[in-house]
Amino acid sequence: MTFEEMDKKYVLHTYNRNYVNFKSGQNATLFSEEGKDFIDFTSGIGVVSVGHGNKRVADAIYEQVQNITHISNLFLIEPQAKLAKKMVELSGYDMAVFFGNSGAEANEGAIKIARKYGQNRFKNKRYKVLTLEHSFHGRTITTIKATGQKSFHQDAFSPYPDGFSYKNQIKDIYAAIDDETVGVMLELVQGEGGVAAFDKKEMQELAAFLQKNDLLLIIDEVQTGVFRSGEFLASKLYDIKPDVITLAKGLAGGVPIGAVMTKHKDIFTYSDHGSTFGGNFLSTRAGLEVLDILESYHKNGLLQENIDYFDSKLKEAAEKYRNIFLSVTGLGLMRGLQCKDADTLSKIIKASFENGILVLKAGRNTVRFLPPLTISKDEIDEGFERFERALDTI
Ligand SMILES: *Cc1c(COP(=O)(O)O)cnc(C)c1O
Repeated sequence: MTFEEMDKKYVLHTYNRNYVNFKSGQNATLFSEEGKDFIDFTSGIGVVSVGHGNKRVADAIYEQVQNITHISNLFLIEPQAKLAKKMVELSGYDMAVFFGNSGAEANEGAIKIARKYGQNRFKNKRYKVLTLEHSFHGRTITTIKATGQKSFHQDAFSPYPDGFSYKNQIKDIYAAIDDETVGVMLELVQGEGGVAAFDKKEMQELAAFLQKNDLLLIIDEVQTGVFRSGEFLASKLYDIKPDVITLAKGLAGGVPIGAVMTKHKDIFTYSDHGSTFGGNFLSTRAGLEVLDILESYHKNGLLQENIDYFDSKLKEAAEKYRNIFLSVTGLGLMRGLQCKDADTLSKIIKASFENGILVLKAGRNTVRFLPPLTISKDEIDEGFERFERALDTI
């Protein structure tokens, strides 16, 4: 039985997989079973923030799990306390953190915070959370409903919880707020939805309006967070002060983790929320090492250098292939090239793979780039060379 057959027989069929068998990786380069190398402009969908096979993260994890991997949240977890402190310090916000295991779980936590706040703060409980069309907030029953894409609201999984509705643009939000609305949840750059960054001024005005009315601004930074935007949080780049922030993907370099941070530090009391695995020794020790690496990478200017270099290469490709691309989108190392149509997008993803370069799709017609933040200039050069070779076949 081949591994492909094994996978198809024993794993539930939720992914339209590509059956390449990667055996090892180094920074932004992956090696398959056949010894073929691929430049990875996806970092496992924004997860492997410090690259594949990162020695510092591997050593930190190894040292940790030799001693304790997991002990439950009934006891002090030293790296959890340290990681929370580090995240709060890097954010510059006066917040506290709860740890879970994924982005969806982090958003569930955010929604629980919003509902409890809505009960505590207002005479008549407020519970509705407005989100945006083309958003993506996760795959649990609640976060599917929070996701503003009809294709996710399959009848098969109904009934869904009440309290979510969707607006097309930021400016549509104001009129949609009623006396049961407790807040707004959104991504500053919609990832799955098409790598579309919102306007800074428009976002600041919304933040000010919500603050004035004691409504919550929940920023889903599951994809934009952990230096993906060039700053620890995209919220810093937008110069806004959210009430609640969720993180996951890049936070522990590939070890499953999710986190919700809020300035409402006393919103939860004992037993309001919890997680068996969340914030255990393994994931938080990995997270500490990742943040340590990325903090210096940000401070010494190398991250910005990479962002600028990637940007120049991306614009070059967009210019050279104007017959294929309509626009360049996104920010930091979360970038997109919008194609003419969905069919061209599929062809590009396939041709890229055949030419040894991994890229993602976003929305209906956007090629998405989420390289490891530590990608080398050589890997960027090689990646774009291969990408252009792929485009030449379209
Ligand atoms: C990936 C993603 C999620 C879901 O994260 P999971 O870890 O898959 O649950 C939620 N929100 C955004 C913005 C994401 O990009």
